[in-house]
Amino acid sequence: MSFSSLKLSTPLIGIIEKEGYTNPTPIQRKLIPVLLDGHSAIASAQTGSGKTLAYLLPLLQLITPEDTAKHSYPKIFILSPTKELAQQIYEVSKPFVSALGMHAVLLQGGGRRTDEIQRLKRGVDMIIATPQRALEHIEARRIDIKGIRHLVVDEADMMFDLGFVGYLEKIFESMTERSQKIIVSATITPRVVKLAKAYIKPLKRIEL
Ligand code: AMP
Repeated sequence: MSFSSLKLSTPLIGIIEKEGYTNPTPIQRKLIPVLLDGHSAIASAQTGSGKTLAYLLPLLQLITPEDTAKHSYPKIFILSPTKELAQQIYEVSKPFVSALGMHAVLLQGGGRRTDEIQRLKRGVDMIIATPQRALEHIEARRIDIKGIRHLVVDEADMMFDLGFVGYLEKIFESMTERSQKIIVSATITPRVVKLAKAYIKPLKRIEL
């Protein structure tokens, strides 16, 4: 199976080829079509499985050039439990985001707030953040959470291990009902399923 048979757009296929990715990984084959159809989902995927592009490619395709023309508000919001993973997601997304002329902003614990505020003001289409810092910017109204159409919670089980579930619940509660929500976790534990069921309806479950 090729990337083009997954109904990805010509511009995205061009960037995929330029980046040297030849075939989609198993999680990409399963998750991309579900997300392109606009469904919310919970997916089990390990780091190294290609999970970042599995959620990122369809979400980037669902954002139109008109949406991003002014970079005036974030449309895609990705939450990561650690700074390191947030950085990694940012790096994997960079060639795609810049080739599409979009703006991505990284918000993470330890980062300088004044720099983050400047970057948010300069224009943003996608945010990659750790939950506590994200919530801080939301509560200070520097992020318009109601405009967000696609939310990803990556490494959900680690979010529980690190005690971040309270932040996640507040973020889920601020989202509009019709936004697309994706939870990715190395293991789909009962507490991850409970969180997903509380905030995501209807929910597709993707397992390899
Ligand atoms: P991830 O599971 O998202 O942490 O991805 C791990 C690594 O796999 C990243 O460095 C990606 O650049 C790479 N990757 C993602 N998709 C593919 C693919 N289809 N073929 C080869 N490498 C990939």
